[in-house]
Amino acid sequence: MTTSETDLDRLEHVQARIRRAARDAGRKPTEIELVCVTKTISAARIEPLLRASCRQFGENRVQEAMEKWPSLRAAFPELTLRLIGPLQTNKVRDAVRLFDVIETVDRPKLAAEIATQAVREGKTPRLLVQVNIGEEPQKAGVLPEDADAFLRVCREDFGLAIEGLMCIPPVDQLASPYFAKLAEIAARNGLSKLSMGMTSDFEQAIKLGATEIRVGSAIFGAR
Ligand SMILES: *Cc1c(COP(=O)(O)O)cnc(C)c1O
Repeated sequence: MTTSETDLDRLEHVQARIRRAARDAGRKPTEIELVCVTKTISAARIEPLLRASCRQFGENRVQEAMEKWPSLRAAFPELTLRLIGPLQTNKVRDAVRLFDVIETVDRPKLAAEIATQAVREGKTPRLLVQVNIGEEPQKAGVLPEDADAFLRVCREDFGLAIEGLMCIPPVDQLASPYFAKLAEIAARNGLSKLSMGMTSDFEQAIKLGATEIRVGSAIFGAR
């Protein structure tokens, strides 16, 4: 990566990689949504991407997103903001207000609070369940063996429509088997959205059915 390269140059390169990976997998590039992950990136630096027609963005932290996104959204109302980091129950109200999609639903208490705040705010974000696909103790997400039951709880106990699954596979391992496992859990539960694949592994994710990839450092450089 050369210093003269801009975020927009790198974005174009990522888009070319998506097209190639889609073609190799026999898929249409338009089936795969590129979510620009803007954690730690300033609003001033995000603006050029919005002007270049990027509309899907991911943030990790509710507080940081609340500082940056209301003004950007006022200027670009059609953007989609996704929460891709862990959500504490005391931040659910803010998250429901700000985010269009919450991708990290992973426990009954959180699902219950989202349902409560959605009624209170008169607004239900689209929802994905995060699966701890590598069963790593330090990671958030429902365990794979508990996913089916948790999805039922979301639907039946809390009336939440879950549209897909999200995962972050273990680092330093081949991601493909984990992506395949996530796709399998989604398929048997009738879920159509798969949020998987980041800078280091999004081609593998596209091959295994990702409908959404979340890319940060390939666009903005190393954090
Ligand atoms: C930071 C982050 C990404 C983007 O990671 P890169 O490797 O920089 O592309 C994707 N998903 C989640 C949940 C993240 O926290």
